[in-house]
Order: sequence, then C-alpha cells, then structure tokens
Amino acid sequence: MLGLYLHIPFCSAICNYCNFNRGLFDAALKERYVDALVTEIERSRASSESNRADTIYFGGGTPSLLEPGEIARIIEACTDAFEVSGDVEVTLEANPETVTVQRLAAFRDAGVNRLSFGVQSFRDDELRRLSRLHGAERARAAFREARQAGFDNISLDLMMWLPAQSVADWLTSVDEAIALGPEHLSLYLLEVYPNAPLRDEMARAHWSLAPDDDAAAMYLEAMARLEAAGYDQYEISNVARPGRRSRHNLKYWTDGEWIGFGCGAHSTRGGARWKNVSGTDDYVGRVARGESTAVEVRQLSASEMLGDALFTGLRLVEGLDEEAVANRYGVDIWARYGPDLEPFLENGVLRRQARRLFLTREGMLVANEVMSVFV
Ligand code: SF4
Repeated sequence: MLGLYLHIPFCSAICNYCNFNRGLFDAALKERYVDALVTEIERSRASSESNRADTIYFGGGTPSLLEPGEIARIIEACTDAFEVSGDVEVTLEANPETVTVQRLAAFRDAGVNRLSFGVQSFRDDELRRLSRLHGAERARAAFREARQAGFDNISLDLMMWLPAQSVADWLTSVDEAIALGPEHLSLYLLEVYPNAPLRDEMARAHWSLAPDDDAAAMYLEAMARLEAAGYDQYEISNVARPGRRSRHNLKYWTDGEWIGFGCGAHSTRGGARWKNVSGTDDYVGRVARGESTAVEVRQLSASEMLGDALFTGLRLVEGLDEEAVANRYGVDIWARYGPDLEPFLENGVLRRQARRLFLTREGMLVANEVMSVFV
C-alpha cells in the first residue's frame, strides 16, 4: 500500500537551526498553495495504476497552521484520487503554539487521527536557545488539549545534544515526556548546519555542545528509561507503545512506496524516484499552468535499490532479514560484505542471529560507520 505525504511549507517564524523546506506564513499564498495541492492530488488520479493507500501524512513546515477545513479538503482529495483503506493512519505534524482544544477537535473531525507534536524540549531555557515560539507549559497544555479533543495516538518529537544542554537537562525532558504518556516518541540529535544562525548565536553566547561521550549517554539513558516505561524501540530514533509504530514512516524504512505532494516533496514508486520543485511560488505557478511539478525524476538502478534497502533496514531494531534481501535482490549479504562486517560483530556493534543482521543499541551510535560498508 502507498503512503501519501503532503508538504505544508509555512511557519510562523523560522527557527535558528532549521534546514527544512519552509518559509514564513503568508495567508494569500497559503490559499493558493492549498488549491495547488488539491489540484496536484486530483491530477495524480489519472496516472495511478494501483492506487491503494493506507497512510496520509501532513509534514512541514507547520501543517497545523492550515485551517481544519483546508485539511479536510486535502484529505478528501486524497480519498477521491486513491483507494484509501478504512483504517487509514492520518498524521498531522503540529506545533504546540498553533493549537487549541477547539482547533484540535476540528482537525479530528476533518479526519486526522494521529498527531505529531514538535515539542523538542520541556525546558524553557532550551526552547529559547532554539528560538522556538512555544514554552514548556504550552507543550504540556497542547498535549492535554489533544487528549481532550479525543486523540489516542500522539507522538512527541524531542531533540537532544542541544547547545549548553547537560545529560541531566536532557533527561528531565525525557522524564516529562514519559509522564505525559504519548503513544510514540521520536528522539533526534540536533545537527547544527554550517550556515545556521544558531551557530553564530552559540559562538556569541558561548553555548557549547556536550562532549561526544555525554551525547552517547543521553541517547543510551533515554532509551533505557523509555524501555522501562513500556516503550519499544523499533528504529534508531523512534519508540512506540505496542501497535503504535508510525505506519507511514515505516514505509521509508521497509522498502515501501510513497507519493509526495507539495513543494519539495519526494516520491518513490515502481522503482522510480522523483522530487517536486522546492520553491512554493514555483510549485503553485507550475500547477496553475498545468505543468509538471516533478524535477529530478530518475529510475533507480538495482544497486541503488539494494543500497537503500540495506541502509534503511539497518536503522530498524529488527535489522536486515538476509533471506528477504537475497530473494528480492539476489544478493547474499554475508558473502558480499562479510569480511568488512566481521570487525563490527567482534566489537559488539553488530549482531547476527537467525539470519538477521542488526545493530546493538551501542552500535546505533555508530550506525553511519557500519553503513559505510555498503557504499
Ligand atoms: S517550526 Fe519546524 S519547519 Fe518551521 S522553522 Fe521551526 S524547525 Fe523549521
């Protein structure tokens, strides 16, 4: 089944570390953008061979800046153009400062059944350093409002290794998240890009990053606490209560297929990969003129597909199924990469059991080194 991704590129302010495809909210542009998005989805109907979908994911940017009626219209366009299954997972990424219980209830009425809140931290000092618009209390309140509005599937994003953050600081956010009891959590390591304004602010304010050993401790201790609280880690950065894994994101990690709509959205289907134009105006203009929005369309080579399967499979806690890879790609992983992988087995980074190859939790800290074997 396909996953459908809808990109909403608007934000109320631009965070000092952000590297996503987004721009400042503009009400008139947003209206034209929603029209374009609906048109792009409608046009895809004609070209869809087998068009069954079981996930719809609003990512951004800040999708919760859209009005519930606009979200409903986009979901309806999806259900008109695709055979959407009855138990479809519909996720909306939401920023805490954009919601109220009424808005959340209206998003639910529109068809959203899963929320992903960009909380990042439950400490006001850290949120300020990241130039986020919300504070810790707004994040807690947003979570409570979501429950009040009837959401029983909520994910929280947290970021670790923030400027001036100690291991203890980080763990207070983890403990607060656990206390709230969401169904799903994603833990990301902050990456400060070379041209991110945060980099200059860090230099000016003398905010440093904790040493590598502390970053490792942040990750390992957070995962241990989450596990003790009943969450299962299923991917390097993701944990969930039983039955609450992100069905949409799993498509990215399990050789699935998805179609992305909106500016900068990526798609992978039938051995092909393409990307839409990044600029919001450019995208809206192309849709209005009836032109294709896709750029960088290419057929994946067999070795690229194999590489992707190996990379993403190793991100999963259950790891790579050697037999499945052999059946699908005709490659015996062990015969091809065994000598290069052997040292990782010896030092406890990798494990091999019942023809599955997987990273240990410590190994997840050096996943990139292991994956480089497959390049
Ligand atoms: S809210 Fe998210 S997408 Fe928007 S600027 Fe901040 S980090 Fe970027």
